[in-house]
Amino acid sequence: MIIIPYSITHRDEWNDFVSRSKQGTFLLNRNFMDYHADRFFDCSIMICQSDDDKGAYTSTEQNFGDIIAVMPANWIEETKTVETHGGLTYGGLLTKEDITEIEVLQIMQAAFTYYREMMGARVLLYKPIPYIYSSLPSGEDLYALFRANAQLSRRLVSSVVDMRHVLRMRTLRTNGVKKALAKGFYIDRMQDGDLDTLNEFWVLLEDMLIRQHKASPVHTVDEISLLMSRFPREIKVYIVRNSSLRIVAGVIVFETGRVAHVQYIASNSEGNENGALDLLFRHLITERYKNMDYLDLGTSNEAHGHILNEGLIAKKESFGGRAVCYDSYRVMLDEPGIGTMCELHKPKDKKRRIKYLDLKKLNHTYEPHLSYEINRVAQSGQYLLGQENQRFEQTWKNYIRTRNCVLVGNGLEALVLILRAYCKLDDWKAGDYVLVQGNTYIATIMAIREAGLTPVLFDPVYHPVHGMPLLDNDRIERILDKLDSSHTLRAIMPVHLYGRVWDMDSIYRFASKHNLKVIEDAAQAHGAEVNGKRAGALGDAAGWSFYPGKNLGALGDAGCVTTNDDKLADMIRTMANYGSRRKYVNEVEGMNSRVDEIQAAVLNVKFSYLNIENKRRREIANRYLSEIDNPLIKLPNRPCNPEENVWHVFPVYCTERDKLQLYLMDNGVETLIHYPIPPHKQNALKDEGKLVLCESLPVAEREAREELSLPISPVMSNEDVDRVIDLLNRFVA
Ligand SMILES: *Cc1c(COP(=O)(O)O)cnc(C)c1O
Repeated sequence: MIIIPYSITHRDEWNDFVSRSKQGTFLLNRNFMDYHADRFFDCSIMICQSDDDKGAYTSTEQNFGDIIAVMPANWIEETKTVETHGGLTYGGLLTKEDITEIEVLQIMQAAFTYYREMMGARVLLYKPIPYIYSSLPSGEDLYALFRANAQLSRRLVSSVVDMRHVLRMRTLRTNGVKKALAKGFYIDRMQDGDLDTLNEFWVLLEDMLIRQHKASPVHTVDEISLLMSRFPREIKVYIVRNSSLRIVAGVIVFETGRVAHVQYIASNSEGNENGALDLLFRHLITERYKNMDYLDLGTSNEAHGHILNEGLIAKKESFGGRAVCYDSYRVMLDEPGIGTMCELHKPKDKKRRIKYLDLKKLNHTYEPHLSYEINRVAQSGQYLLGQENQRFEQTWKNYIRTRNCVLVGNGLEALVLILRAYCKLDDWKAGDYVLVQGNTYIATIMAIREAGLTPVLFDPVYHPVHGMPLLDNDRIERILDKLDSSHTLRAIMPVHLYGRVWDMDSIYRFASKHNLKVIEDAAQAHGAEVNGKRAGALGDAAGWSFYPGKNLGALGDAGCVTTNDDKLADMIRTMANYGSRRKYVNEVEGMNSRVDEIQAAVLNVKFSYLNIENKRRREIANRYLSEIDNPLIKLPNRPCNPEENVWHVFPVYCTERDKLQLYLMDNGVETLIHYPIPPHKQNALKDEGKLVLCESLPVAEREAREELSLPISPVMSNEDVDRVIDLLNRFVA
């Protein structure tokens, strides 16, 4: 496609194309448009077919191929705006007759890109050519506007008489006609060059516009007379005279092939009182233009289109017209969608990248509901601790089946607040011990330290068949023997890592023996279930994260605590709000850890999809488990019941892990490692006394060396899953 900026040397090609075009209208003839050219900066373009489809812009006369479309347009420098209607132009894209939607899509994309790249335009205001001017039904440009994410910018109302279905003229009007005839009014058409008549009409017109609408005509009388001398066959003036030959009313009509377009209508008080316009319009509709398709009575808006003159609409209807809307649209030219309008026409790229987790694509699946809710809350005036928070807390505690849910700032703070609340309620001392598995995300361990307690790290063991994490009683008792007796062991924190729930029986046995609180880190286990109970309801309290990438994620940070312990919940709610139950009364030392209403509203929208999305994750996991077959790659175990895993992460293990990751990356598949450095090896925690490590942690260290997380998400397609499986099966070390 080649784009050629219009210049006067192309006048003949332009005019020839307009006369043959699908929408062809005399108003877009260059002779007519150029007439106004000194007042407006013309940036019209001509779009030509080219053999190579590189979308070149330049115009050497040699590559001037077949014109397939023209876009009349003006340039507004102050706002860097292209306007297809206004000033010298009268509408949007004109195309060849047998145009297709896809071609228009390509043309519009090329035009938008041209204006942005070559002229630095930011906005394009587009007004489609009114359908009544098209010789064939139009609409391809509307489809293109939709693809360009255009927004309605202005709506003009015109009244149009459909000549095949003229409404009956109202009695009032027919009475007017009788009155006019009785008065001796008669209709006259201005003869070419009869400037006296034109001047007389113009005085009447200006007087009426200024008095009634505080406006003046767009043209001066000199401009109109010049125009009429150039287009004697297209521009006509009809007038009504009284018996002493004075003009009492008149109109100016622009005639195109199928439409007579009335631009100026005026009558003086004598004409108004005696039905002059009634007489005139009856004549135009029943005689003069009865063989046309439409008589367009012109727009009925004022104040640059912003105010509707409803009196005018009613009046025009009583002449036989009906109101029709002419919309204009605003296209933001730097909107990224412009570049991909025609993507449906491109062949699919087989080597498309598979993202680890395509959050943009995922969150798009909740539209337009999500944006609607965000906007609603943004406009509600309530931004913290409001109805959206309450609604989500209610929803989540019903889902998890606990007595309480308290929303807090994020997952880390959820865990910190649980521990701090216990310190307060149960009188735990600084430095007391909390048992925690060594193969977890750093947050679990940092939360313990943040609460002033001491993490004691242990390795889990796995059930040989079902792979559920278990507590190795002997080893853990050995750890306890080595602990310094100046501090007390207070709690154990199982982490349902990767979405796989713990074998809780082994935890309960140990916890009751040592009188420990069981605090779940449920940040990866949204919806997981074991023996009819959900993760989050399996211990004394659970910390949740709604980080964007979790199975249920906000569009930012959020977290919560679930618990059956009412006292604990109340203390956490107080601590999370500056230790205050009543405004400005602070009972305990606290912090600010709240979820804003917008994020709570996002969670409310996304919650309804959680079960469906977990089901999709399980489908993908099942395919990985049954179809990945490579001795170099070790798969996770299939759980005893599918509910026990929500597959937040799908881990595989490989001694050549880094090589495998590079191989997948080279083939367009993104993977992650959860987690490359185990917490006890992190610089942040390696100083003496920060944590207690009574034994080595071979499980945590092996996982850090060998784990690789495959893409798994509700928006992954089956083709993507096929590709990942195929690549893994072809991996050789
Ligand atoms: C995500 C996560 C957290 C922390 O959640 P944030 O909301 O990011 O603070 C804690 N523990 C585990 C296991 C997590 O995966």
